[in-house]
Order: sequence, then C-alpha cells, then structure tokens
Amino acid sequence: MSLKDLLPEGSYEEIVAEAHARKMEVSSGPFMVTCPTCKKRIPYDTSNPFRPFCSERCKLLDLGAWANEERTIAGRPVNEDEDADLLQDPNLPVRHSSD
Ligand SMILES: [Zn+2]
Repeated sequence: MSLKDLLPEGSYEEIVAEAHARKMEVSSGPFMVTCPTCKKRIPYDTSNPFRPFCSERCKLLDLGAWANEERTIAGRPVNEDEDADLLQDPNLPVRHSSD
C-alpha cells in the first residue's frame, strides 16, 4: 500500500502539486501579528526592532503603561494653585458674620 492508494480523488501528481503550492503560499506570505498597543494588524517582520509592536511609539507606550496606570489609580491631579486663586478672588461676594 502506498500513499497513492489512500487518496480517493485526483491524480497523485495534482495533489502533490497543490500541496506544494499551498506550502509556498504559506511560507511566502507574511505572518501577521496584532500590535498589543494599538491593535493594528502588522506583518511579523524580523527587520522590525519593535516587533510585535508596529512602531517604537507603541512599544514605549506599552512599557510605560504600568506607570501611567499607577498614576491614574493615585487619583486625578489636584491643581492647588487654582483653588488658592479662587479663594483669594476679590470679586467674590464677601459675607461678614457681623451683619
Ligand atoms: Zn501599534
């Protein structure tokens, strides 16, 4: 028994030719990956030093993400100077408890 006997359809030559064609198609096509930062589909290119990121920007953003997250959890930054200016605004109505 040979491989040829196991194949019910097509000639052995046709099937081998098709298999070779598919193999060529896979190997020649780019291996696509998704950029972890911007979710853009990009070819996995070994010449890209930022892979699997699409760009240096996305790589840096991802590396700095934990720091940004920490800052966000700490709360919204309070502008103390703005509050001080508001309290010292001379146009604000001043109430005197002695009235
Ligand atoms: Zn990206």
